[in-house]
Amino acid sequence: MTTLADPVPGGRPGDVERATALAGELSGRGVHGIVLAYVDTAGVTRIKTVPTGRLASGAAWGVGMSPVFDTFLAGDGIATTDRLGSPDGDLRLFPDLDRLTVLAGQPGWAWVPVDRITQEGEPHPGCGRTFLRRITAEAARAHGLSFRAAIEIEWSVGLEAAPAGEYVPAATGPAYGAIRQVELGDYLADLLAACHAQGVDVDQLHPEYAAGQFEISVGALDPVAAADRSLLVRHTIRAVARRHGLRVSFSPAVLAEGVGNGGHVHLSAWRDGVNLHAGGAGRYGMTAEAESFTAGLLAHLPGLTAVTAPSPASYLRLKPSQWAGVFTAWGLETRECALRVITGMAGRNARDANVEIKPVDLAANPYLALGCLLAAGLDGLGSGAVLPGEVTGDPALLPASEAAERGVRRLPVSLPEAVERFRANRVLREALGPVLAEAVTAVREGEAAAVEGLDDAQVAAAYRWRY
Ligand code: GLU
Ligand code: MG
Repeated sequence: MTTLADPVPGGRPGDVERATALAGELSGRGVHGIVLAYVDTAGVTRIKTVPTGRLASGAAWGVGMSPVFDTFLAGDGIATTDRLGSPDGDLRLFPDLDRLTVLAGQPGWAWVPVDRITQEGEPHPGCGRTFLRRITAEAARAHGLSFRAAIEIEWSVGLEAAPAGEYVPAATGPAYGAIRQVELGDYLADLLAACHAQGVDVDQLHPEYAAGQFEISVGALDPVAAADRSLLVRHTIRAVARRHGLRVSFSPAVLAEGVGNGGHVHLSAWRDGVNLHAGGAGRYGMTAEAESFTAGLLAHLPGLTAVTAPSPASYLRLKPSQWAGVFTAWGLETRECALRVITGMAGRNARDANVEIKPVDLAANPYLALGCLLAAGLDGLGSGAVLPGEVTGDPALLPASEAAERGVRRLPVSLPEAVERFRANRVLREALGPVLAEAVTAVREGEAAAVEGLDDAQVAAAYRWRY
């Protein structure tokens, strides 16, 4: 479980002693440096590193980093607003010692996610991880709820030796095919070994649809831990790949055409150890609260897209009939609706039932994405929102009149359209608070401006190696 208390100057009780002991143990294991990781609003993981001997000082007083990254763009430009993007000021990065992990794929290094707090010791209003902790804590307080979340990871494996900037798939076998497992068997085995050594329980690893594409799914955790894990697993996928002469991309669209890389989110709400998505009197075993939670997700999807699909490249992926879920609809085990209701296997429903949110990719900051998804679901749950009828088959094939009647609409087709829907969404903006909401808007507008005049192939190329 994630510690829900904010970091404090001097360290939370016991942190410094714990960090001192940890540092000694890490040094003994040959760990020289610690990677402190957080994700900016654009979805790029930014880091500082400290020598292992500095861990206790970091746990007590944090490590300095500019707040400018709240409005950094994926291409390293900076968007500015009245209060964000300034060269002034400093923040402190506080490592979450519960999540410190020795990196099996990078000997000599350990990794830890951080919370960002101000020099005055206050939570930084632009910190996505703090935001997600807050939403999670509020749901526990107001509704007695906890959540389990998992983020699927799809990625493209290319050859390191490819011509500069180009993507040359490192595997040539068919989609879901055994040939790919043979072609990249050593890499994939090292990846599984690294995940195991790092305490990540992998559910599945398989070749995906697009050229050179793979997918890994991991066990569900509380939302903050799930977001942390998503960063750790991607860091590991990349680090292990380098040792095999491979280069990986999590970009939503490595190429302008064809199927992209998704980052589907699985979410379930629980009370007192009971999964609200199973054993209920609603559709497919959902309780009334799970139906309302799902209805909240559905209602807020257009505005959510600015957070869950934040890159110009995201809109190259979000196309109908490619399993990316681009219609405001839900269905049982359906792959074209934005929301896929999953009951799990008979006998294990109580453990496994959840709702999968598909229009999410790995350019998304996972803390912001999960926090906004929870805010949307909780809005539905709190207001007793009614889940409309389910949709089966491909919504793209529904006659326009029937789609309109059933409320099945296409999600935003561009980043500017998503920003417009986000601006109009009071629930999401209020959940984020003014600073994060402004950062999201400014960064998305900055990304849109950065690609003005580019064609699809140029957009794909511009973001190919940024995520
Ligand atoms: N690659 C698809 C996407 O972009 C998802 C395929 C799948 O269902 O796993 O979301
Ligand atoms: Mg997949």
